[in-house]
Amino acid sequence: SSFADDFGIDDLPVRDELRGKSPYGAPQLDVPVRLNTNENPYPLPEALVERITERVRDAARHLNRYPDRDAVELRTELAAYLTKTGKYVVDTENVWAANGSNEVIQQLLQTFGGPGRTAIGFEPSYSMHALISRGTGTGWLSGPRNDDFTIDTAAAEKAIAEHRPDVVFITTPNNPTGNAVPPATVLALYEAAQTARAATGGAMVVVDEAYVEFSHGDSLLPLLEGRPNLVVSRTMSKAFGAAGLRLGYLAAHPAVVDAVQLVRLPYHLSAVTQATALAALEHTDTLLGYVEQLKTERDRLVAELRALGFEVTESDANFVQFGRFDGASGSHEAWRQILDRGVLVRDNGVPGWLRVTAGTPAENDAFLDAARELPTSAR
Ligand code: PMP
Repeated sequence: SSFADDFGIDDLPVRDELRGKSPYGAPQLDVPVRLNTNENPYPLPEALVERITERVRDAARHLNRYPDRDAVELRTELAAYLTKTGKYVVDTENVWAANGSNEVIQQLLQTFGGPGRTAIGFEPSYSMHALISRGTGTGWLSGPRNDDFTIDTAAAEKAIAEHRPDVVFITTPNNPTGNAVPPATVLALYEAAQTARAATGGAMVVVDEAYVEFSHGDSLLPLLEGRPNLVVSRTMSKAFGAAGLRLGYLAAHPAVVDAVQLVRLPYHLSAVTQATALAALEHTDTLLGYVEQLKTERDRLVAELRALGFEVTESDANFVQFGRFDGASGSHEAWRQILDRGVLVRDNGVPGWLRVTAGTPAENDAFLDAARELPTSAR
């Protein structure tokens, strides 16, 4: 090429807050057992693949036109799914959809965050909340967690009162730790956030329920009642086994749905995406059957890791956090030893801990065999 080899990002006029930063980077390594990105290990059933093909074929006949900008049919089916599974009636006007819940979160931050505003999360938690905040010019505040990775409600309320964030993220079940947040904590933080920002119409509280279908408990959807500043964000990437589809959605007061439309790109959800998601929603019962199998496997991973002498964080998700290794170098060394046995787990940078996604029974056996080989002193 005619470009100089030593020319890099830092030679471009990128925004100051992006300088020296790294992109989201879960390694995509080609190993036999990949249990590192909380995907569903089960390919979509063949009948669903057929249905997707049919629906996409129909959509293809109209690709000369822009798609339904408001994705009304899809939002209606998502609302029906939430109503059926969430113990709370959700209507089309309460639902908004985008390309993965990452885009939902981005639209929320573009709407309610931005320059001069701040968002808070309780870390360790889903790293994209901080990264999308940065990308939207929103200041990021790292809130505290207890040593057992639960949220210290009093400390969190204090942080909210002190920093008065515009957006509060609560991930439940939390990633990468796996534990769910009690509804009472969510309610307390909602109140704290509204009080702290009473002068400016309150703050938005985003409950990220990407993993809620795997939980022992219920969705927090019923908390939406009477709380217009609460948003529940969901995804088809995990329970629906459709990470490749890129379909996330939210449930909230209709005013929130109106508000995010101020920032969404026109026609952001392609006709192919909408058709595919609608096909998947027709097969909800089969897909939720896989979720039940994964929950059983998740509980087995927890039990067997504990029997091997590991510490395991309580999990309501499709993954398990285990340790405790000797600090950051200990967990990295364990990660490498597990990888040497053909199993990719995740080092989320939580010193002393690793995260493994529940896979098929055979994949989980391969992981447990690798874990059994770790030196006892590492546990
Ligand atoms: N929220 C949480 C807590 C997640 O772990 C993930 C995926 N890792 C997402 C949101 C984003 O998922 P997607 O964009 O695929 O919907």
